Amino acid sequence: MKRSTGKDPGPPDSGEVQSRYYPRRDFLRLAGGCTAQLTLAGAFAGGTARPLFAHRPGVKIVQEVPWGRLEEVGPGIWALVSTPLQDRATLCNGGIVQGRTGVVMVEAFGTPEGAAWMARQARALTGRWPDQVVLTHYHGDHSAGLPGLAGPEMEAPVIRATAATRALTRNTALGREDEALLNALERVAHLPSGEVTSVDLGDREVRLVPREGHTASDLTVEIPDPSVVFCGDLVWNRFFPNFVDTIPTLLTPAVRALRRQRPTVYVPGHGPVADSADLDLLVELLDRVEAHARRAHREGTEASEAAETLVLPSALEDWYRFSPQYPERALAAWLRELSAT
Ligand SMILES: [Zn+2]
Repeated sequence: MKRSTGKDPGPPDSGEVQSRYYPRRDFLRLAGGCTAQLTLAGAFAGGTARPLFAHRPGVKIVQEVPWGRLEEVGPGIWALVSTPLQDRATLCNGGIVQGRTGVVMVEAFGTPEGAAWMARQARALTGRWPDQVVLTHYHGDHSAGLPGLAGPEMEAPVIRATAATRALTRNTALGREDEALLNALERVAHLPSGEVTSVDLGDREVRLVPREGHTASDLTVEIPDPSVVFCGDLVWNRFFPNFVDTIPTLLTPAVRALRRQRPTVYVPGHGPVADSADLDLLVELLDRVEAHARRAHREGTEASEAAETLVLPSALEDWYRFSPQYPERALAAWLRELSAT
C-alpha cells in the first residue's frame, strides 16, 4: 500500500484531470452550476477571483496545492479550501475529522482524483484512511469524485448520504452513463431522513444534520467541541451564492440555524473559511435579496428589472459575482416561489 506524505503531489494539474475525466462541456454540466462559473472566471479573467480566497492571518496551513489548501481548524480537524481558479481536482470545500476510533471525510469532491488526493491527505495527517465519507448534497462538484474512494490503494470507506442525495446523484450518474459513479453509489449507507445522526469517533462526536435550502437535500457536519460546522453549500463565503436549485424560503432559516452563540469555525461550501461575522454578512445578503424580491413581487417587477436596482451594503459589494446574472437568478428563484404561494 502506498504511503503518502504531506508532500504528496496528488493529481496532475487540473487541465489534465479535467480532460481525462470530463470534456469541458461535461464538466460544466457536472458542476451543476455550483462552481462552473468560478472556474471559468479563473480561466478567462486571469485569476481575478484569487484574492477572495485569501486565508485569515495566523491560520495553520498543512498542505497547499494548486487546487486548494488544507487548514487546521481545530485539533484533529482540517478544512480544505478549494481554489479552483485553474486547477479543478477538488472544486468544492470539504474536510477531515479525526477521532480515536475513526476518521470522517467531508465531501467526495468534483473528480475521482481529487477525492483520492483528499483521502491520502487524511491518511498522511491521521495515519489511517477515512472510514466514512459524508456528502452534503448531490451536486457534482461535491459527489462526482466518489469512484476515487476505492481500489487497491485504499480501504473503501462507508459513504453517508441522505436517501434524496443518493437518488439525485444516481439520476446524474444515469444521465451521464457513469458506471463508476453508479457502482460507488451502491456503497451509500442511507442516513435516516429528518433525523440527526450522531457519529461516535471514540473521543469525539460528529453530528450529521439534515437541512434544506441550497437543495432539497442538504446536510451539515457539526462538531460541538471545538465548535466547527461544515456547512456544505448552505454557506458561501465572499461569493454571491448560486440559487440554481435553491428553495429561498428555506435557505435563510437554514443558514440562521447554523449560527452558534460561541466562537465557531464555519467551513463554507465555497470560499475561504468563515467566522460568525462572515456568516452574519451572508444572512444580511440573503435578507436584502428577500426584501428586494418581496417588493418586486408586490409591484409586479420582473427579476431582470429588479436585479438592476438591487443595492447591497458596502461590506457585501466586493463579494464576487460569477456572472452579472447571479442576483437576477436569486430574485427569479424568489419570485417563482412567491408567485406559487
Ligand atoms: Zn458546490
